[in-house]
Amino acid sequence: MISKVLIANRGEIALRILRACKELGIATVAVHSTADADAMHVRLADESVCIGPPPSKDSYLNIHQIVAACEITGADAVHPGYGFLSENAKFADILEAHGITFIGPTAEHIRLMGDKITAKQTAEELGIPVVPGSEGEVTEENALKIAREIGFPVLIKATAGGGGRGMKVAKTEADLMEAFNTARTEAASAFGNPAVYMEKYLGKPRHIEVQVVGDGMGDAIHLGERDCSLQRRHQKVWEEANSPALNVEQRMKIGQICADAMKKMKYRGAGTIEFLYENGEFYFIEMNTRLQVEHPITEAITGIDLVHEQIRVASGGGLSVKQDEIVFNGHAIECRINAEDPRTFVPSPGTITHFHAPGGLGVRVDSGAYQGYKIPPYYDSLIGKLIVHGRTRVECMMRLRRVLDEFVIDGIKTTLPLFQDLIGNQDIANGDYDIHWLEEYLAQTSE
Ligand code: ADP
Repeated sequence: MISKVLIANRGEIALRILRACKELGIATVAVHSTADADAMHVRLADESVCIGPPPSKDSYLNIHQIVAACEITGADAVHPGYGFLSENAKFADILEAHGITFIGPTAEHIRLMGDKITAKQTAEELGIPVVPGSEGEVTEENALKIAREIGFPVLIKATAGGGGRGMKVAKTEADLMEAFNTARTEAASAFGNPAVYMEKYLGKPRHIEVQVVGDGMGDAIHLGERDCSLQRRHQKVWEEANSPALNVEQRMKIGQICADAMKKMKYRGAGTIEFLYENGEFYFIEMNTRLQVEHPITEAITGIDLVHEQIRVASGGGLSVKQDEIVFNGHAIECRINAEDPRTFVPSPGTITHFHAPGGLGVRVDSGAYQGYKIPPYYDSLIGKLIVHGRTRVECMMRLRRVLDEFVIDGIKTTLPLFQDLIGNQDIANGDYDIHWLEEYLAQTSE
């Protein structure tokens, strides 16, 4: 059994994990950098440990300090949240060597899915449909041959990729070598590994991802899908569950394929299998072996607390539900509230002078922000998430419109006005958008 969890993260996700622990009667330890001494997760945790100066590499990514904090406080488990060390296999290994439970998958599975080429090969072996592309790494010698076999346009992607970096499209043969070289250079500087692979470039896909949870012993469930097509620079902005593009049969079919794959792998913990979806076909792009930012919309429509499930599974207690007990109820939308200019997306750190979160039926705000809180400039600009649930998509959108008008965050710029624009748009109302829609909309409306 787990009795004390150290939360190796900050911001809204640290608070989210803390809430789940409190509900389960588990003691909590917050860790923080000197810049986060006043953060809400630090105030609410049972104990807290300062692990270093503001830069992430010296604090939230400092494995040494985090393990020391576990030893000092007697924490017997670590929840890594998302980002930071959540997909760091070495961290999982080190914790295990210290007899501390990592609330997540095995280090072996993190490694397997962390490398995009082995992830794709594994997905294919497990019966998951993948994007047509190169078998492995693409080199200067074989690039043209492979691109011709796949057919232009092609996408060159970093093997160690993340956050859309090291990704370049080649529309024709003439563009190929330049795209190849730029992708390699970007990959080398962003990930310290220049290796790239190649995929068919899909023109107008949606981004649809399936939530899975495995017990590590051969049982696994899926919790339906999320549509995260509304993106800017490959960063998700607005997410929906269910996808406006799928019907029940499609949902259950792709969900079952993913759950079966996780059973075969004996996957442990929460994970997300990401697809591009075009013309009725799913194409696997990657698997994230952690909790995602947008997990609350899945919780809204299933009523299942994913962090509770993660903790149960990590304690060896199995899943709390069976697949046929899961009921998908209504529709949920999440808006990511970033401390950014809503048009240019330039970060806007500073002090929140007034903060009023909306309420009412079907409304959830996950945020560590409060009046007087000073947003430090060192980290991700996500300061909160607004999650709205309704019995139907129409009801959910009506509620979201009301809730956006009620939300007040003064003193800094936020992305709230962007959502107020989007809620009035006809394509959004119709659920008719793909992964390029938002960039095109922003370009058109800024003229
Ligand atoms: P990362 O790990 O860098 O986020 P992903 O493989 O998850 O990379 O892809 C990120 C985004 O890039 C996708 O959501 C999609 O918008 C775009 N993308 C990825 N692969 C393709 C593809 N084959 N064709 C078109 N767009 C793609």
